[in-house]
Amino acid sequence: MTSRKKLAVLIGVGAAWMLSVSPATPAQEKDKAPAKKIAIRAGRLIDGKSDTPILNALIVVEGDKIVSVTAGATPPAGAELIDLSKATVLPGFADVHTHVLLNGDITAEDYDTQLLKESTPYRAILAARNARIALDHGFTTIRDVETEGAMYADVDVKTAIAKGEVPGPRMQVATRAMTPTGMYPLLGYSWELKVPTGVQYVDGVEGARKAVREQVMYGADWIKYYSDRRYHFEADGVLHSMVNFTDEEAKAIVDEAHRLGKKVAAHCIGSDGIAAALRAGVDTIEHGDGFTDALLDEAARKGVYWVPTITVGAYVAPGRGGNWVKMVDLEKIAFQKALKKNVKIALGTDAGGFDWKQLNEAEEFVYYVNYGMTPMQAIRSGTVVPAELLGWSDKGGTIEAGKWADLVAVSGDPLKDITELKRVKFVMKAGAVYKNEVH
Ligand SMILES: [Zn+2]
Repeated sequence: MTSRKKLAVLIGVGAAWMLSVSPATPAQEKDKAPAKKIAIRAGRLIDGKSDTPILNALIVVEGDKIVSVTAGATPPAGAELIDLSKATVLPGFADVHTHVLLNGDITAEDYDTQLLKESTPYRAILAARNARIALDHGFTTIRDVETEGAMYADVDVKTAIAKGEVPGPRMQVATRAMTPTGMYPLLGYSWELKVPTGVQYVDGVEGARKAVREQVMYGADWIKYYSDRRYHFEADGVLHSMVNFTDEEAKAIVDEAHRLGKKVAAHCIGSDGIAAALRAGVDTIEHGDGFTDALLDEAARKGVYWVPTITVGAYVAPGRGGNWVKMVDLEKIAFQKALKKNVKIALGTDAGGFDWKQLNEAEEFVYYVNYGMTPMQAIRSGTVVPAELLGWSDKGGTIEAGKWADLVAVSGDPLKDITELKRVKFVMKAGAVYKNEVH
């Protein structure tokens, strides 16, 4: 071994004091190879922080991070220039309610077919495709809230993306989700057949704690459970439901998840399910069609996020019929009340509940504006608010120095026409350009 190599090895094992006094070695130079510098000229920048766009902004990206954002500056020497001067640049979008392992779920038959006739490897291949679709639509971050019978395959999709093997958004995943025995499909098959279940059946306080530990052991970032089912209207005009877990069980799930540093998402559609989830202390309410004034007040007071998933509700309602159509109207009223009460609303679509190839997740932004949000509020619900929900406020959600270089661009002005967000022309994630159709 030459003395030079010896020095490199010493440095390699972390002799930090040596780094400050030693001359540069080839090993060091390699480690310190300057990250690629990119300067993006944005005609209009919605950074997620400011109330109004910044005109003619220059965003400098180094490696996977944003290093500076300035109005009217000149690009630094040696930087590659990306000209988005005719476009609006925004933070990458986040959808905090997706199912990459599902491809449409309008009827029970759609669902059963996927679980009975498609293998988990096949579904994982489609999931990688779906992740690519999300990224292409400008969603640089997703929270995937259960695999619908595909066990822990979401962890694999997340890992493959994180390692750069396949393109896709940053992911937090919930793995299998939970209900008590018999309260989630597949149901209705002969008792002689052993059929897969869409979620993990979990019973009793000890069973709940063990299931949380098991899911966390296999990679769950979130624990999701089904708070209710059998949604129905009663004479009071409120959407009611049957609550799945006993309060003791639900509290055990939440307590164990929090003890292990994980957060909890609860599927709740009826008011009874929402009330039970809020009693249990969950972090996010998924769907929430049956929110009443009192429950919205409670969610606001406790700082619980609401993820409305309007896109899926409106999409499946005609096919499912019955109360599902009425529930869409009900949720619109609840949404408008939630805005007045300052409930934290994070954008979630339930993509996978609809076919990833048929709808653009950005449709959800359009609903929020149609339901009463300003375009800027809607944009924040799909950028800044999800970053906070995911615990990534210090890393993402806005375009500012120090944050991940996750950004998108559209041709027009989304503050004037929110449907622009359905026509994303440029996508950068972690400083890498995945799409550039800006001309
Ligand atoms: Zn869902």
